[in-house]
Amino acid sequence: MKFEFTTATRIVFGAGAINDAGAIARESGRRALVVTGRDSSRAERMLAGLRSAGVSAAAFSIAGEPELKAVEQGAKLAKAERCELVIGFGGGSALDAAKAMAAMLTNDGELLDYVEIIGHGRVLARPSAPFIAIPTTAGTGSEVTRNAVLASPEHKLKVSLRSPLMLAKVAVVDPELTYALPPALTASTGLDALTQLIEPFVCNRANPMTDGLCVEGLRRAARSLRVAFSKGQDKGAREDMAVASLFGGLALTNAGLGAVHGLAGPIGGGFSAPHGAICGALLPHVMAMNLRALRQRDPHGAALHRYEEAAWWLTGNSKAKADDGVEWVRALVHDLKVPRLGSFGIQQTHIADLVIKAAIASSMKANPIVLTPEELAETLEQAL
Ligand SMILES: [Zn+2]
Repeated sequence: MKFEFTTATRIVFGAGAINDAGAIARESGRRALVVTGRDSSRAERMLAGLRSAGVSAAAFSIAGEPELKAVEQGAKLAKAERCELVIGFGGGSALDAAKAMAAMLTNDGELLDYVEIIGHGRVLARPSAPFIAIPTTAGTGSEVTRNAVLASPEHKLKVSLRSPLMLAKVAVVDPELTYALPPALTASTGLDALTQLIEPFVCNRANPMTDGLCVEGLRRAARSLRVAFSKGQDKGAREDMAVASLFGGLALTNAGLGAVHGLAGPIGGGFSAPHGAICGALLPHVMAMNLRALRQRDPHGAALHRYEEAAWWLTGNSKAKADDGVEWVRALVHDLKVPRLGSFGIQQTHIADLVIKAAIASSMKANPIVLTPEELAETLEQAL
């Protein structure tokens, strides 16, 4: 057995942890680029904390998913304003944008030099500027991942800027920041977290450290996602989901993902749909297809047992079988009112192209079994 584990230099978790953000930022400098989502007013408490700690801020807000152009603008602003650190405050989009800006603040050249697929995929040479990640949703785990997913509208693609040098210096995870998330966002981000715990757990690069994180994260997400959806102010449920999201990020960075994310990448690039909703719509169908393929082609491998174990944690029943886990997820996705893929404009005629793009997605490589193009197409059809 061989494995590595990498994460943010420091993780500060807890209700009210946001009150420490000023002092934490001050350790990295006096001038920060603060990247927020569309509604920057939610960052007011954090900005006040920065001011009282003696850190001034240049603000940059990201509306929707981060495009390459926005990252270039943000990095330019950070240079012009002589920022010493970058703080990302928001959902996965704001965090990924901030993470990419922190990398471009210290590395020469253009962003396109470094991104995969549509760029030159050059390796980042220098560590990012100090990056502090403060998630306000519980889903992506971006605060502890080493890649930033960026959109290129002209290529209809989402591409990653990826490097171990991009890991956050500090991740501040405060469940209080998620109390006001509306139910639909709680559902989509929460299902992303759930997917990011199931996929690394059954994937072909799982290791004992990620296993421990996945089991604990799955237990918490299973008992609390429904509660957080229907009772947003439930502190215990919000705390559980923040842990689940964080642990999913730790697991995916160190083990990998699978076919849900392999398909979600090209779908997200071509259609306007929240990443978590895409994952939720796909998850039960990919689980069922993986089980069918494993039973046909790898009936004695470890992955089938993994699915059974995941079912124990999801259902809370130690006698559950792998198919019970799939049914549990199917019911959850239904109860959380996740729309089907067809409602985002995806049609039968798009499937062939999506399958070609998904087959080469990096997440696909960690899927516990290689799915054929026909199996991927069938999975998409079921999720339409
Ligand atoms: Zn995801």
